[in-house]
Amino acid sequence: MEKTVAQVGAGRIRQDVSCAKNSVGMEVCRSVRKRLREETGENLRRNGASGCLVPEGETPGLPLLKDSGREPRKEAEGLLLHLCCAPDGTIPWPTLEEEAFTVTGYFYGGNIHPEEEYRLRLAAVRRLAAEHRRLVVEHYAPEEWFRLLAPFEAEPEGGERCRRCFRLQLENAAREALRRGCRVLCTTLTISPHKNPDEINRIGVAVAEQFGLRWLHRIWRKGNGFARSVEESRRLGLYRQGYCGCLYSRNERNEGVECS
Ligand code: SF4
Repeated sequence: MEKTVAQVGAGRIRQDVSCAKNSVGMEVCRSVRKRLREETGENLRRNGASGCLVPEGETPGLPLLKDSGREPRKEAEGLLLHLCCAPDGTIPWPTLEEEAFTVTGYFYGGNIHPEEEYRLRLAAVRRLAAEHRRLVVEHYAPEEWFRLLAPFEAEPEGGERCRRCFRLQLENAAREALRRGCRVLCTTLTISPHKNPDEINRIGVAVAEQFGLRWLHRIWRKGNGFARSVEESRRLGLYRQGYCGCLYSRNERNEGVECS
């Protein structure tokens, strides 16, 4: 019988928990729960059957739609949508909602510098989510981003630094998908005309496989997606950034190099 994602995820989480016990003890679990409680306002409990961490009152593996006020469709699958920014989410988010998915938006943000810029983009993401959409905001951790990616500072936009940055963001998104019982992972990154969508989808497939998830292959910029996102973000009054996100891309922008 095919395993549910909760069962697949439970194995991985049990492994993580077992490692945590061997290293820094249950503090790791407590800090994850505390952080999620701070970010989402939800209390987590460990599901007895699966071992998954799930919000109080929710069952892992079932569609999550409690914030929308709408009934989930019978066939709805939980999908975690990695949001690189609000404007890039304007087309993918409602499109996936129209399809048979129960969508949770996920914003990483550690790749956005300085913090003032991060706050502006986060406010726009919250605005896009409004009251009716489910959104998870990662704890802002630029120091983690710099620790891993500062060695690739000299890489131009689109090079190795960006590949690693995509992977870092998608791995964090995949962990959150497992915690939330989402089976499917997708990103808004492929709406940008400045990024390589095939490369992003390749990284997405690898990350999804690593975490036992299904990758939803999309090239959002197709069908005039980028132009429609610009129009839609204007209509919604969303903040639009002038550079991709990290300090290095900001420096490139200041030097006149075109970036997203
Ligand atoms: S330019 Fe964008 S994708 Fe590349 S490393 Fe910086 S934030 Fe990440």
